[in-house]
Amino acid sequence: MRKIEHIGIAVADLEEANKLYEKLLGVAPYKQERVESENVMTSFFRTGPNKIELVAGEGEDAISKFIEKRGEGIHHIAFDVPDIKLEMQRLKEEGFRLLSEEPKKGADNKWVCFIHPKSANGVLIELCQEIRD
Ligand code: ZN
Repeated sequence: MRKIEHIGIAVADLEEANKLYEKLLGVAPYKQERVESENVMTSFFRTGPNKIELVAGEGEDAISKFIEKRGEGIHHIAFDVPDIKLEMQRLKEEGFRLLSEEPKKGADNKWVCFIHPKSANGVLIELCQEIRD
């Protein structure tokens, strides 16, 4: 894994959270995007070399369930990987539980795969690889 690609924060109201993070970070989100595969809305902020992703659910989705159970807060840590399939294979062999067999199309032009928090000390880990055409 090359670096932390972004930190994902679960929020109940994306518009309100956008305003708050814009005040906090001093920049507006550079992108807002719906992720079909997860049924969520996201927005992205850049702070220097780092990225923050705000994620809000739309009812029947993992984010809404997360907020119901644990409240708003840090939801996942995403790592940038050069070859997601290779990394998925490696982690599977190491005994990690992946949440999908194949990479899915995630937000911000990425292939993504999540690792179950139970196999990573309670932290949801996201692998992401830039989609190139
Ligand atoms: Zn993410």
